[in-house]
Amino acid sequence: MQHIDEQLQTAIAGQYDVIVAGAGPAGVAAAIRSARSGARTALFEVAGCLGGVWTAGMLAWVFDFDQAGFSRELTRELDRRGARRGTNPDKYVYEIEAMKLLLEEMCAEAGVTVQLHTRVVAATKDGSGRLRNVITESKSGRQAWSAAAFVDCTGDGDLGALAGNGFDYGLEGTGETQPMTFMALVNVKDAAAIKEYISFYEGDLDKELRELAWQGFLREINRAGLEPSYMRPTLFHIRDQLVAIMVNHEYGVTPFDEAQVTAATLRARREVSAIVDALRALGGVWEGIQLVASADQIGVRDGRRLHGRYKVTRDDIVAGARHEDAAAYVKFGVDVHSFSKEKNRHENGLSNYGIKSKPYDIPLRALIARDVDGLLMAGRCISGDYIAHSSYRVTGNSVATGEAAGAAAALSAASGVLPHELAWPDVRRLMDREDA
Ligand SMILES: Cc1cc2nc3c(=O)[nH]c(=O)nc-3n(C[C@H](O)[C@H](O)[C@H](O)COP(=O)(O)OP(=O)(O)OC[C@H]3O[C@@H](n4cnc5c(N)ncnc54)[C@H](O)[C@@H]3O)c2cc1C
Repeated sequence: MQHIDEQLQTAIAGQYDVIVAGAGPAGVAAAIRSARSGARTALFEVAGCLGGVWTAGMLAWVFDFDQAGFSRELTRELDRRGARRGTNPDKYVYEIEAMKLLLEEMCAEAGVTVQLHTRVVAATKDGSGRLRNVITESKSGRQAWSAAAFVDCTGDGDLGALAGNGFDYGLEGTGETQPMTFMALVNVKDAAAIKEYISFYEGDLDKELRELAWQGFLREINRAGLEPSYMRPTLFHIRDQLVAIMVNHEYGVTPFDEAQVTAATLRARREVSAIVDALRALGGVWEGIQLVASADQIGVRDGRRLHGRYKVTRDDIVAGARHEDAAAYVKFGVDVHSFSKEKNRHENGLSNYGIKSKPYDIPLRALIARDVDGLLMAGRCISGDYIAHSSYRVTGNSVATGEAAGAAAALSAASGVLPHELAWPDVRRLMDREDA
């Protein structure tokens, strides 16, 4: 049987030392670290901006962020630009547009070749099973790119799956997944007047007040005649009268089924819009509330978890596992958003399954593909079980794993040594964590 690819005979459009697929928190960190380590680095992103869930997904809030390296650098830069709210460097609200620009400037400064609106759609390996090329599709058509090392930062593990690496998806045994969430920005008449409903007002709020805030906001949505699909509706104060709104859960949607993702996006936009309209109809402090922007990409929590040379597990987070080759140190606990609307009502939107976690390490081995040579991964598609993923998935850890994978990819390209044969101290040195 003749394959379409052979007919198309896609020509090599460019050759790099390192290719990073996906420019979310993990991908940007991986590409910048790789380029700063001297590797000619390309970063392919399907959206029209860098940042993934941070920007196209309009998240507006980071967790587990007080980590050495790129996270602290970003925090300092956001502060310098007056684009960060709150005093805690570990979790804070940021301005989405400022984040987009900052990431673009940092990539340019590091010498990363960025191509937006470009999706990685295929991968080819050589006879030994080593990944050699990726194929992208964009307005430039179908293009092939070769590199010595690749990093999958697509969140959903697209590149790993295309290259034939094994993966897990959903809860072991049932396949259930965490819901997606569609974010939006609203303009309000006076943010101070709805302060009691804002979980993160000016960036800071203690846990008790945060609980009261979402409970109060839920009562307000109910008073407006609606029940949100996310029972812990949350407002994040971005600046002045601009507030990010999180009121939506989309259940049972597979992130690599475009028809399902589209249907969820349309449903979610309708829901968020209806809630904002209903609040405005209440008048009072809600008078004039207006939807000013909605996310380009619905936020995906659960995608493929690619098989690596180590799997981070629930046992690791209960025991607080430590490793010689620690690529990231995770402090964030188990955080599983409810699988269904019914569960959502009982669990108030999320649960930690009663698991008491201790800070733990993610070893570099969890970032190195098990079945495909020359491939690393970072962010939420690294190798772990369902429960561990619900803890390490937040953006501070995505950045930390991105940096480690970027350093390892650059070193692999420069030395000709495959990622799984690298010595950790050599990778660690490249990570250049002068502020550790
Ligand atoms: C609604 C929601 C709320 C969250 N809340 C928080 C929070 O409050 N704080 C926190 O720290 N974390 C939070 N998280 C978790 C966090 O946002 C993610 O885990 C984090 O974004 C993972 O980073 P990533 O780089 O792995 O993936 P992503 O941010 O998903 O980035 C993946 C990137 O790859 C691109 N891409 C995908 N496929 C391809 C392809 N084939 N070719 C080219 N590009 C591709 C995408 O467009 C995207 O830009 C939340 C997540 C969601 C969804």
